[in-house]
Amino acid sequence: MSVMQQNLSVLEPKSKRRKIDSEINSSSSSSSSSSSSSSNNCGHFFVRYGICCNCRSNVERHRGRAFDYLVDGLELSDVAVKVTKRVTTQITCFNDKKLHLVLDLDHTLLHTVMVSNLTKEETYLIGEADSREDLWMFNGGYSSEFLIKLRPYVHEFLKEANEMFSMYVYTMGDRDYANNVLKLIDPEKIYFGHRVITRNESPYIKTLDLVLADECGVVIVDDTPQVWPDHKRNLLEITKYNYFSDKTRRDVKYSKSYAEEKIDEGRNDGSLANILKVIKEVYEGFFSGGVEKELDIDSKDVRLLLHDARRPK
Ligand SMILES: [Mg+2]
Ligand SMILES: [Zn+2]
Repeated sequence: MSVMQQNLSVLEPKSKRRKIDSEINSSSSSSSSSSSSSSNNCGHFFVRYGICCNCRSNVERHRGRAFDYLVDGLELSDVAVKVTKRVTTQITCFNDKKLHLVLDLDHTLLHTVMVSNLTKEETYLIGEADSREDLWMFNGGYSSEFLIKLRPYVHEFLKEANEMFSMYVYTMGDRDYANNVLKLIDPEKIYFGHRVITRNESPYIKTLDLVLADECGVVIVDDTPQVWPDHKRNLLEITKYNYFSDKTRRDVKYSKSYAEEKIDEGRNDGSLANILKVIKEVYEGFFSGGVEKELDIDSKDVRLLLHDARRPK
């Protein structure tokens, strides 16, 4: 097993690895391409800790794009990203009959508040955190405690979406926070695996460049469109979930919070249930016509289907 294969084995199943290898070889120049090629004509497609997985030469750091969230120290060249995206989508579509779904956390799947920012009328929740399935207390370090409230329907949503999509979490929160939340919504790592992108990898904006799937097959669900400057066509905007009033937020000051009113967003007719209907439609539209032979993804695009789905009926 070559070093490159060893590294990639963490990333992908064997069948996919072979395909990525062969596609990269055919898309690189005709003079290079075998695994024994010399460093002179190596494209340094997969680099780990600054060393090319193929030719073993030292490669300048940050020449490619970092994918530490998948494998520590991993960098992919532009060509490798492009080919891996393409192959991943082809194989996920064809083998698993799935597309890709990128999910935001805060105000999309849940609402988190610092305990010190609860209003007086909301403090009753502190005592309920232990006994409720949708409410959790966690210690964020620096002696700050947080309450996490899951959005109604989140478990059902993830379970059903998982049948149709390979899922990513993409949050502006940090790695520590994401891990804490994932312990609650995906303790067995069934839904997301290593596919969790945080502020640590992506501090300013969110981009599908970090998602290893072809953009023609990626649906994003997020409450904040501004963080996706380049991928609005892939985005389904979901209504912000605000459970707590959060004393530090000005925009919700004048109305009472769900927590204060002791009510909540609807379950079977709430935002997540509605979004599930839309992504199901997009999924069915994408796969209408069947997948008997290897899917021709050039003729399919979720962006066109999302455009239609957004149109009022
Ligand atoms: Mg959000
Ligand atoms: Zn190389």
